[in-house]
Amino acid sequence: MKLHEYQSKQIFARYGIPIPEGEVAATPQEARALAERLGPPVVIKAQVLVGGRGKAGGIQIARTPQEAEDLAARILSLQIKGLPVRKVLVARAVDIRQEIYLGIVVDRVASRPVMMASAEGGVDIEEVARTKPEAIQKVHIDPFVGLRNYQTLWLAKSIGLPAELHRDFGRIAQGLYRSFVDCDASLAEINPLVITPEGTLLALDAKIVLDDNGLFRHPDLAAMRDVDEETPSERAAREAGLSFVQLDGDIGCMVNGAGLAMATMDIIQHFGGMPANFLDIGGGARADRVAVALRLILADPKVKAILFNIFGGITRCDEVARGIVSVLEELRPDLPIVARLVGTNEEEGRRILETSGFRIQTARTLAEAAQKAVAAARGA
Ligand code: GDP
Ligand code: MN
Repeated sequence: MKLHEYQSKQIFARYGIPIPEGEVAATPQEARALAERLGPPVVIKAQVLVGGRGKAGGIQIARTPQEAEDLAARILSLQIKGLPVRKVLVARAVDIRQEIYLGIVVDRVASRPVMMASAEGGVDIEEVARTKPEAIQKVHIDPFVGLRNYQTLWLAKSIGLPAELHRDFGRIAQGLYRSFVDCDASLAEINPLVITPEGTLLALDAKIVLDDNGLFRHPDLAAMRDVDEETPSERAAREAGLSFVQLDGDIGCMVNGAGLAMATMDIIQHFGGMPANFLDIGGGARADRVAVALRLILADPKVKAILFNIFGGITRCDEVARGIVSVLEELRPDLPIVARLVGTNEEEGRRILETSGFRIQTARTLAEAAQKAVAAARGA
């Protein structure tokens, strides 16, 4: 789950990271009032859960309250990468001498968090990583020992930070690491962290991505979710407790278990097809959850064939089959369907599908099912 910039800044501020004063507005009038209170110039920033807002015109500096109102009106009418802007952050504008990057992510290969810093901040860090990887300095953090001061000092020196800023940089880096750990985040990032002409450090942008698997420990963070920012499919999946990721292919997959879902995607590709989604309906999936899952698959216009791969352990195949049939009766999709149901009550499940009156190809093995689905998607 991604947090907005203003939410991430509220969290960072609690960890002593210096943030320019600001507040959120939902209307141009509110933006004007905030500009009056803060005193111009102010920066008006679109609050949408994507990067590159600056380039898209979502970040503007206003020199008067009137200008703040006008610019807020313009930004609130924008769509950035398909997302409508519903809120803006109005913050005291800051003069910039240099833009730095500072961030933490989980390095899965190293099995620990890695802190990264670069003197080339402000811009898209993925772009820097591609074109100039040597400009990014990294330290791995031992989760049992924590982030050590010698590590932050090394980072500060490596990116050429002046000596008088080393202490403040260290404090900010420690605050960032503690917020990352305390929130169960998968990413915490300040881009840019700026050096002002007065020679102080300020976090001008903030981004936190929370690990959904840790969210149950943080009801306060879970409550920060902006449901307006989810696509209808993402929302339906979350509310039904399904793991769903939309992909670019044309074979809709419905599988129980994340590992089996991955294997299914791999074998589809092995036989020359492309999965349209990752969809794990979980263990013990009941008919109603299957129905939601099937609706998600059918909502994707790219899908040309559907593959069910169900391993009946806790999940009973007859329950799944009944779920499939009830949704087919309701939605009557004009798509070829391949089903592989094995395990608990598989005969009963297969019988339900075969006598349903719908044209459903069944398969005994995963390889057979994948080949049939690939052929079906090709119209063979
Ligand atoms: P992003 O484009 O979505 O990453 O949004 P950022 O918050 O990082 O802003 C993009 C750029 O706008 C920054 O790198 C700065 O160059 C500029 N910017 C943001 N806030 C201010 C500000 O208060 N003053 C000035 N002068 N520039 C700002
Ligand atoms: Mn940024």
